Amino acid sequence: MTDRIIPIYLPPRTTLPPARDLAALPEGELVDRRNRRVRDLRISVTDRCNFRCVYCMPKEVFGDDYAFLPRKQLLSFEEILRVARIFVDEGVEKIRITGGEPLLRKYIENLIEQLAKLPVEITLTTNGSLLRKKAQALKDAGLHRVTVSLDGIDDAVFKRMNDVDYAVGDVLDGIAAASAVGLAPIKINCVVKRGSNDDQILPLARHFRNSGHILRFIEYMDVGASNGWRMDEVLPSAEVVARIHEEFALEAIDPNYHGEVAERWRYVDGAGEIGVISSVTQAFCSSCTRIRLSTEGQLYTCLFAQSGHDLRALLRKGAGDEALRREIAAVWQSRDDRYSEIRTAATALPAAKKIEMSYIGG
Ligand code: SAM
Ligand code: SF4
Ligand code: SF4
Repeated sequence: MTDRIIPIYLPPRTTLPPARDLAALPEGELVDRRNRRVRDLRISVTDRCNFRCVYCMPKEVFGDDYAFLPRKQLLSFEEILRVARIFVDEGVEKIRITGGEPLLRKYIENLIEQLAKLPVEITLTTNGSLLRKKAQALKDAGLHRVTVSLDGIDDAVFKRMNDVDYAVGDVLDGIAAASAVGLAPIKINCVVKRGSNDDQILPLARHFRNSGHILRFIEYMDVGASNGWRMDEVLPSAEVVARIHEEFALEAIDPNYHGEVAERWRYVDGAGEIGVISSVTQAFCSSCTRIRLSTEGQLYTCLFAQSGHDLRALLRKGAGDEALRREIAAVWQSRDDRYSEIRTAATALPAAKKIEMSYIGG
């Protein structure tokens, strides 16, 4: 089994083919310049959050005087729905509601209820703080699945990571509530920052073994301009797997579907599975089918895109569905992003050019 553990640094899973000329794209098929289809739409419904996770919205930048977007600049639920419908017609199969903290957006369950009428999977990523209160309403609205972020199981470490003194027990209660209303199995995401919370890997693994939930460890990414990211603070997924494997034997299992971002491992003793997402050490740009709609209606074709495409302007100018569809198709067809595949310390974007995760939607 040990020989199946991945070495620390790997080339991308598969490298992308050369970019195609725009003129050479096949008609009637929505693919980007590297032949990737659009499958996942991530919608950020607020740029606000009640946490100040050190790797996402550090307090020094997102302080009391930080200017979040005024309400009028946010896409309305009607505007979001219009865009979502067009994306579904263009091939999107999964919609994820995110933010900021999506459960802070008032009446979010009303948006979910409308989205759930579309023939796609609707999921939501949350820090879990409002989940106990909202779980039933989310389930009733038709939400299919929920992912909860949890960066430690030790209260002191968790509080240090969220930096607002939020107790881990309340998030665990939220997970239990979501489970009780039938949103299980739940994915639990932990971003690992070396030297900050990597001592939580094993305690988290012990806690969620046999729970039926799927714990996933995410490599700390250089997204946004404010987290002061350094390569030496990234703990490679291979090391996460090795550490857990030392205590509980693991074996690799097949992806659920082609292009699944998380690499899956199962406990040999049958206690469930974990996942690792190696965005830094083993890029998966070649199968990246995600597009992001920001809180104020900008479309981003990559987490690391330096600018968006303004759909809100079109929506508010009274553009019809066909004009919107053409714009969306043009944006996807001209996509050539593969930042993580070609990122090295030397090519990492300077902070000033990056868009914050809380705005673009994680
Ligand atoms: N507030 C919600 C939450 O925390 O689940 C949703 C939005 S948050 C931006 C979405 C996901 O992005 C979370 O799982 C978070 O841990 C992850 N994230 C934020 N900054 C990150 C970074 N620098 N590297 C890796 N993941 C990050
Ligand atoms: Fe908020 Fe989520 Fe960012 Fe943490 S990761 S600060 S919970 S948006
Ligand atoms: Fe997708 Fe961009 Fe991330 Fe590559 S770097 S996987 S293209 S979001």
